[in-house]
Amino acid sequence: MQNPPTRTQVAIIGAGPAGLLLAHLLHRRGIDTVVLESRDRSYVERRQRAGILEQGTVDILRATGAGRRMDRQGLRHDGIELRFGGESHRIDFPSLTGGRSVMVYAQTEVVKDLIGLRLDEDQPILFEAEALEISGIDGDSPQVRYRRRGQEHTLACDVVAACDGFHGIGRRSLPGADTFERVYPFSWLGVLADVPPSCEELIYAHHPEGFALHSMRSPEVSRLYLQVSPDERLENWSDARIWDELANRFAVDGGWELGTGPITDKSITPMRSFVTEPMRHGRLFLAGDAAHIVPPTGAKGLNLAAADVTLLAAALLRWYRTGDEGGLDSYSADALRRVWRAEHFSYLMTSMLHAQPSRDPFELRLQLAQLHYTATSAAAATSLAENYVGLPLPGAEDIVE
Ligand SMILES: Cc1cc2nc3c(=O)[nH]c(=O)nc-3n(C[C@H](O)[C@H](O)[C@H](O)COP(=O)(O)OP(=O)(O)OC[C@H]3O[C@@H](n4cnc5c(N)ncnc54)[C@H](O)[C@@H]3O)c2cc1C
Repeated sequence: MQNPPTRTQVAIIGAGPAGLLLAHLLHRRGIDTVVLESRDRSYVERRQRAGILEQGTVDILRATGAGRRMDRQGLRHDGIELRFGGESHRIDFPSLTGGRSVMVYAQTEVVKDLIGLRLDEDQPILFEAEALEISGIDGDSPQVRYRRRGQEHTLACDVVAACDGFHGIGRRSLPGADTFERVYPFSWLGVLADVPPSCEELIYAHHPEGFALHSMRSPEVSRLYLQVSPDERLENWSDARIWDELANRFAVDGGWELGTGPITDKSITPMRSFVTEPMRHGRLFLAGDAAHIVPPTGAKGLNLAAADVTLLAAALLRWYRTGDEGGLDSYSADALRRVWRAEHFSYLMTSMLHAQPSRDPFELRLQLAQLHYTATSAAAATSLAENYVGLPLPGAEDIVE
């Protein structure tokens, strides 16, 4: 593209899952968008993050033509395993939720699919274009000033959708917002390994030494996590130490073998809950991590981003088609209702499964009581399953033709 566009209907900042899905949903319904992304394409497509898609996220990708590769390569999962006290217990999703399940399909692949669709359809997505300032959101023609290849440009629009993640400029540009935050006293050491998963479904392990999660990205690649202290350093964790500690935390009575292989990626992620309210001011709308962060224990981050933009796309469509601002006016309250539900679920999973740094024996017994209840009560298991596969996605029916 020689000259970048100077005007569009919806200016979208950020080519993460939120921005790309919003652009895709709006383009299908004839609404023009320009996506501005500060990083290059290769960086965005390789950034290792989430990997579990709720049923509603799967449904919206599939119904809008973005799910073809997901349906070929994704792994449908009908349950998870809880391990604690040397035993393992399975939570079966379809029988507890009326047939719903989740899909294991990496965020990197969702992002690649959405970028591919956008470029195939010759729709504007400007990489290495960093939004610097959002202005005019109290009027009806806001603008985004951005820098690309050393030059500054201005993009005029009807609406700005800030899908620019936790460190973007969107949230800072929204006046008068309240923020709510909880920082957990532990982090996750995450590794990607070239080894087939040692399990068919995810294992969430509670262990006195700390939580461990066995997940996967494909039949050949495993994704594994260990709870570590927030000040832990990667250089303290040799590959051998990681595999030993994982085997220790996943151990069950009667034995279980963890396959090992070359580790290709290692990182440490802090655990945090964060919400900003409201998610809209005038013509500026926040979506995804720009407005909220959840600890990854509930696998909700990417799914909340998808839920926000489905709701926002439906509201924008209604406004452009009929002039009715009702959906735009209720966007923030509607989105926040789901956000806080996901915050609570993520908090519950996190506090049930992680060892407290104090090693408080009272806390440990409470956790084991809750785990035992979840493993043996249909009501408790249903609550976990319903939240894990995700509640119905408001706006989905309106935006899918
Ligand atoms: C290290 C890590 C691990 C995670 N693991 C999991 C997990 O296991 N499970 C789970 O469910 N969730 C996980 N998450 C959360 C999940 O990845 C996010 O919730 C999801 O990426 C949110 O999508 P988003 O589009 O809102 O934001 P992002 O994916 O952060 O995308 C925002 C985009 O905006 C761009 N941007 C930022 N500022 C600007 C600017 N000024 N101008 C232009 N572009 C800008 C960024 O480069 C980025 O591409 C993880 C997150 C992190 C950080």
